[in-house]
Amino acid sequence: MSIENNQNEEAESFRDHLATVDETGKRKWIYVQEPKGKLYNYRTILSVFYLIVLFALPFLKVNGHPLFLFNVLERKFILFGVTFWPQDFFIFGVGMITFLVFIVLFTVIFGRVFCGWACPQTIFMEMVFRRIEYWIEGNNNQQRVLNNGPWTNKKIFKKTLKHTIFFAISFLIANIFLSYIIGIDELIKIISEPVNLHMTGFIAILAFSFVFYGVFAYMREQVCIAICPYGRLQGVLLDKDSVVVAYDRVRGEDRGKFRKNETRTIGDCIDCYQCVKVCPTGIDIRNGTQLECVNCTACIDACDHMMDNVGLPRGLIRFASENNITKKEKFSITPRIKAYSAVLVLLIGAMVFMLVTRKDLNATVTRVGGMLYQKQDNNRVSNLYNIKLLNKTQHNLPIVLKVENANAEVRVVGKELLAISENTANGTFFIILPKKEINARKTELQIGVYSGEKKIETVKTSFMGPLSE
Ligand code: SF4
Ligand code: SF4
Repeated sequence: MSIENNQNEEAESFRDHLATVDETGKRKWIYVQEPKGKLYNYRTILSVFYLIVLFALPFLKVNGHPLFLFNVLERKFILFGVTFWPQDFFIFGVGMITFLVFIVLFTVIFGRVFCGWACPQTIFMEMVFRRIEYWIEGNNNQQRVLNNGPWTNKKIFKKTLKHTIFFAISFLIANIFLSYIIGIDELIKIISEPVNLHMTGFIAILAFSFVFYGVFAYMREQVCIAICPYGRLQGVLLDKDSVVVAYDRVRGEDRGKFRKNETRTIGDCIDCYQCVKVCPTGIDIRNGTQLECVNCTACIDACDHMMDNVGLPRGLIRFASENNITKKEKFSITPRIKAYSAVLVLLIGAMVFMLVTRKDLNATVTRVGGMLYQKQDNNRVSNLYNIKLLNKTQHNLPIVLKVENANAEVRVVGKELLAISENTANGTFFIILPKKEINARKTELQIGVYSGEKKIETVKTSFMGPLSE
């Protein structure tokens, strides 16, 4: 019993330490072997496409407006050319919840594959910065030798070149990142006009550049392991039916070195450590699913390559669920997946409904304070109102007001009411009612807000009148 316990403790000992921290608590730098293989090639193609889209999107416009804008400073968001204002925040809120539920559902089914294949952090790190590092400093072994070696002219040159390029790319990313927040036109102004005119923007670009440089030059996998909240959620989202990058321990164990022309009587894992060497987070996937695994699939490629070399079937490390490996169960739709899917469908339905019924114009009518009513000619009485218009469309809308439930005249003070595109406008107007229409001190009125013949909104207000005379 005690021998069994000892064996279990030994097998689980990897849980007592982090792959990137040594016994003294110091960071262990990971020298990642460059991955090669079919999945890595797919990831490369996807990353190129992804980077083109990421860099091109801020330049795309619809009717002179950005296709996407996430201006958190002014609380103005543009999605697919449609502008969302603070007044639409309930749509945005439901949209965020829908997105979160989608992420949860996706993770329950496919694990953390988003991290390895679509997260900008991984794509920039593995496909841009890591490749530049291989190009300048050589492969993982050469990098280790360079880092541990003395500061020769060659090392100084390589390090200076690498960090200069890293900072230049970080600066580029910072610019693109900012263009998603303030728009490409504002960004061009910051870049092209004198610095003193855009000091805040200039400081923001520099600050973001240093953050990105710090992340890609030094923080690296620590972002995925220790900072990213999504990574921390894996423990509660994954279950034994989730399909993740997994080592088939039933087939692989007992592991042991490969010997040519030997009849293999142990498991298929030849203990070559290739899966560990290519892992960007430094873990050994043979220890089971771990929080650090970003599902980049580099270990699948590495292991398949080794299996080909020794003539064993591929797929010792593959996309599989725990139940698939231990019980040979095929993927099935579990009650958990059904429940999340139902919630997701409901949320999407609510989103679609809110988007379809979303108003292009918001009007708020308030009676001018401190006044009751004014006597008018022809035995009529008036009240004075303020109107605030928020036009969410990208064109000006001339506005006409009509009282829908009374025979009233609307008289705008000053020029016509105009709702200015993507802006707010204020106006003042009188509602004039014949006295015979007034039966109470306070009469509820419904005002139709029209643009041309199209009724955009109906707002309610009250009319104060004399009780009797
Ligand atoms: S264990 Fe495999 S899939 Fe997970 S991060 Fe490491 S190399 Fe990528
Ligand atoms: S690459 Fe495959 S064979 Fe080599 S150690 Fe990893 S699991 Fe075992």
